[in-house]
Amino acid sequence: MIGLAVILGLVVGSFLNVVIARLPAHRSLWRPGSACPTCGAAIAWHDNIPLLSFLLLRGRCRACGAPISWRYPLVEFLTGGLFGLAWLVFGATRDALIAIALLATLIAITFIDLRHQIIPDVITLPGVVAGLLANLTTGRVPWVESVLGIVAGGGAFLVIILASGGGMGGGDMKLGAMLGAFLGWKVTLLSLFLAVVLGGILAIALLASGRSGRKDPIPFGPFLAVGGTVGLFWGERLVAWYLSGFAG
Ligand SMILES: [Zn+2]
Repeated sequence: MIGLAVILGLVVGSFLNVVIARLPAHRSLWRPGSACPTCGAAIAWHDNIPLLSFLLLRGRCRACGAPISWRYPLVEFLTGGLFGLAWLVFGATRDALIAIALLATLIAITFIDLRHQIIPDVITLPGVVAGLLANLTTGRVPWVESVLGIVAGGGAFLVIILASGGGMGGGDMKLGAMLGAFLGWKVTLLSLFLAVVLGGILAIALLASGRSGRKDPIPFGPFLAVGGTVGLFWGERLVAWYLSGFAG
């Protein structure tokens, strides 16, 4: 059964590649079919099989031989792997469905932010509603905690934006609110904390290695996505463990 989850992830990952390439350019996700960005040749279905086609074609377009971006197999691999993990952690439950919806969204946001330094509202705003509705329907997170999560996740960034006068964008704020809707306020605060720590470590490493100047912007969306993913899978347990430290 985990094989089915992974295959579903590979297929969804293939679609996410289309979203990542087209959504920021306001192009249709459905038409035309996939084509080589270099020579424009249409890509046949048998050259469009997740991971497998990339390997068989050795990462090159069949028509013109131009290299295919590493992003395509990476997104497929990540989506397949995370869907498999969702199956292992949540089993055949409604929680697993919520998890794969959030994971797919976070993967698309991560690669769009890395490439274009934007987090599209057209993903995050419906995401806020979807997260709240999912929790209202299933009770996975009590709906009050989901609403408080929207306030906490969005509000944390609003404070940063007001205090810093820039640096963080409104896109990060809406992503924070979306995580809050899905995960509830406790796990969301944990996810934000993880994102800040991870982002700080990478920023220091880049500065120390001289690969990045102090002024180069580092998109924060990918760190939020990683923090949110850890929160999704292990947040409840980490929060309980943290709180038990005070009780004990
Ligand atoms: Zn080509």
